[in-house]
Amino acid sequence: KVNIFWFRRDLRLEDNVGLYHALQSGLKVIPVFIFDTDILNRLQDKKDRRVDYIHQALQRIHKELKKHNSGLYVYHGTPMQVLKKIIQDFNVDKVFCNRDYEPQAIQRDREIADFLLKHHIQLKDFKDQVIFEKNDILKNDLSPYTVFTPYSKKWKENLKNIETLTTDLTHFANYKGPSEIIPLKEIGFEKTELEFTEPELNRDIIDSYGKYRDFPAMDHTTHLGTALRFGTISIRKCVQYAVKHNEVWLNELIWREFFMQILYHFPDVVHQCFKKKYENIAWRNNEKEFKAWCEGKTGYPIVDAGMRQLNETGFMHNRVRMVTASFLTKHLLIDWRWGEAYFAEKLLDYDLAANNGNWQWAAGCGCDAAPYFRIFNPYEQTKKFDKDSQYIRKWLPEDYVEEPVVEHTKARDRALKAYKEALAE
Ligand code: FAD
Repeated sequence: KVNIFWFRRDLRLEDNVGLYHALQSGLKVIPVFIFDTDILNRLQDKKDRRVDYIHQALQRIHKELKKHNSGLYVYHGTPMQVLKKIIQDFNVDKVFCNRDYEPQAIQRDREIADFLLKHHIQLKDFKDQVIFEKNDILKNDLSPYTVFTPYSKKWKENLKNIETLTTDLTHFANYKGPSEIIPLKEIGFEKTELEFTEPELNRDIIDSYGKYRDFPAMDHTTHLGTALRFGTISIRKCVQYAVKHNEVWLNELIWREFFMQILYHFPDVVHQCFKKKYENIAWRNNEKEFKAWCEGKTGYPIVDAGMRQLNETGFMHNRVRMVTASFLTKHLLIDWRWGEAYFAEKLLDYDLAANNGNWQWAAGCGCDAAPYFRIFNPYEQTKKFDKDSQYIRKWLPEDYVEEPVVEHTKARDRALKAYKEALAE
C-alpha cells in the first residue's frame, strides 16, 4: 500500500503540514500534482505567468525529489478523472493534502472525499495555508468577525509559539517516479519571461516596511504575494519573522487571513456586495472608459502608470492598486466586479479572497470598508506618495499625453450622488 500526497496551493517540501504527516505515516508516499483542466480552460492567455510559475515550482520540487530517489507525478485533467486513474494504478491507503478555503475548492474536495470513501480511501486534509482558519477566531458570541481591528487583536491574542516542521525526505525513497514532469506545451501553455526565484524573507525590506511601504517608486514591499498564493513559502515562517521584527508587516499577513475567513464564512461575496444595499448602485459601466482604464489611458498619470505596471509585469504596488480601484468604481462608476475580474486575469499574486475583499473595500461595499464618501483624489495621492513623479515616469512613456476621461470634481460629485441614492432606497 502507498499514500498519496496531493500538492495544491502548497508547492514546497519544507514546512508543509500535510506532506509532513503523509511522510510520518510509515507507508511510501507518492507525490502528485494535478493541472486542473477545469481551472486551466478558463484562462484566456496561453502565456499565463501563473501557470508558468506553478510549472517552474514543480520542476524545482521534482529536482529535489530526484535526489531522494523519488519524483513528482504531474497529471493533466480534472481531479476526479486523475484520482480515479491513480487509485487504479496504485494500491492507495490514504490521500493527504492541505485545506483550501475557496468555495469551489471546498466543493471539489467534498466530492473527491465522497468518491474516495466509496473505495475505502480517506482524504486527510490539514491546516497549512493560514495560522487560523474556519472557526479558530470567533467573537465571544461565536459569530465571525467582520471588522479587521478586533479580528487582528483576537488573532494576536490567540497566537502561540509557532513551530515549523522539518520534512524528512528520506521517507520518499524507493518509489522512483517519472524521470521528467509534463512539459508546459503538453498542457496547452507557453513559457513566459518569468524566472522563478526561491522566495526569501528580505530582511532589509521587512525591517523598514512601515516607513517606506507606501511609496510606489521605492518598491519597498516584499513581493511575496505570489509565493504565499502558491505556497512556495510557508506562512508560519513569515509570521515567525514578522512577530519578532515588524508588526506593520504582520498586520498585512493578518489582512490576508481576515479576507480568507470572510470568504469562508460569507461565500456569497464572490458575486455580491458584502453590504447588500450597495447592490442598488446604478453603475454607469461605460465600456469605452473601462477599456481606457485597462489600457492605462485615463489621462490620470498615477492611474495609468499603475495599470501599465500591471499589464507589463503582473504586479502593481498596493498604494496604486487602491488608487486605480477607487478611480474605476468612484470616478468612472464602473461595477467593482469588472475591475476585480481584470485584476484576476492579470495579477501574478491573484488570490480570490484578497482580490475580492480589497475590491469591495475600495468600492465601499465590503466588510470594514472605507466609508463611501471618502473618495481618493488621484492628484493628492500623487503629491503624497509620488511627489517627484518617479513612479509615474517609470511606467509612462515620455510622449504620454492623454485627455482625462472625466474631470475630478465632476466625477466626485457624480459618485457621491449615485452612492447616496443607492443607500437611500
Ligand atoms: P507586502 O506588502 O510585502 O505584504 C505581505 C503579504 O501580506 C502580501 O504578499 C499579501 O499576502 C498580504 N497582504 C498585504 N496586503 C494585503 C491586503 N490588503 N489584503 C490581503 N492580503 C494582503 N493581494 C493579493 O495577495 N492578491 C490579490 O489578488 C490582491 N488584489 C488586490 C486588489 C486591490 C484592489 C487591492 C487594493 C489590493 C489587493 N491585494 C491583493 C492586496 C495587496 O495589494 C497585495 O497583497 C500586495 O500589494 C502584494 O505585494 P507584496 O507581496 O509586496 O506585499
